[in-house]
Amino acid sequence: MNDKITLDRIKLMHPLLRAEVTEMYHEICLALTGKAICRFAYTLRTFKEQDELFAIGRTKPGKKVTNAKGGQSYHNYGLAFDIVLLVDTKGNGKFDKASWETNVDFDRDGRADWHEVVSICKRYGWEWGGDWKFTDLPHFQKTMGKSVVQLKQLLDAGKLAVKNTTYPLL
Ligand SMILES: [Zn+2]
Repeated sequence: MNDKITLDRIKLMHPLLRAEVTEMYHEICLALTGKAICRFAYTLRTFKEQDELFAIGRTKPGKKVTNAKGGQSYHNYGLAFDIVLLVDTKGNGKFDKASWETNVDFDRDGRADWHEVVSICKRYGWEWGGDWKFTDLPHFQKTMGKSVVQLKQLLDAGKLAVKNTTYPLL
């Protein structure tokens, strides 16, 4: 089953990747056949939103959630997304619980749902934060061969994928 909120959030991703991510998301939806669905918790994050996250645990109360300031995350260019599983705990068609458990086989097909998502995304060429030294299990990104510094330079130079947007030309 697919999730309208996720489809709307995919529309915020870099224009070059939207069609691919939509197709990939439909494939994910077909793969998860049990009581969990996949939601993209975040896709694009504006520089301002990123700065606000960066402040948590530094100038604002709370535990640190990111080491990236505005412009330093692939999310800021629409080239990353984070997943969460939503679980229908009561079997009533309401996906009422968010789950970050990576080892639960909700659809009982012999593979943990989280890893089913990982496999599909990797097949589409997405890099998974679970493969990093400091793992970020919900995170996926496609860098298009560009560092965040290069992406910022493109924006600063006004080289945009679409006029009046904040998506860099790739
Ligand atoms: Zn992320």
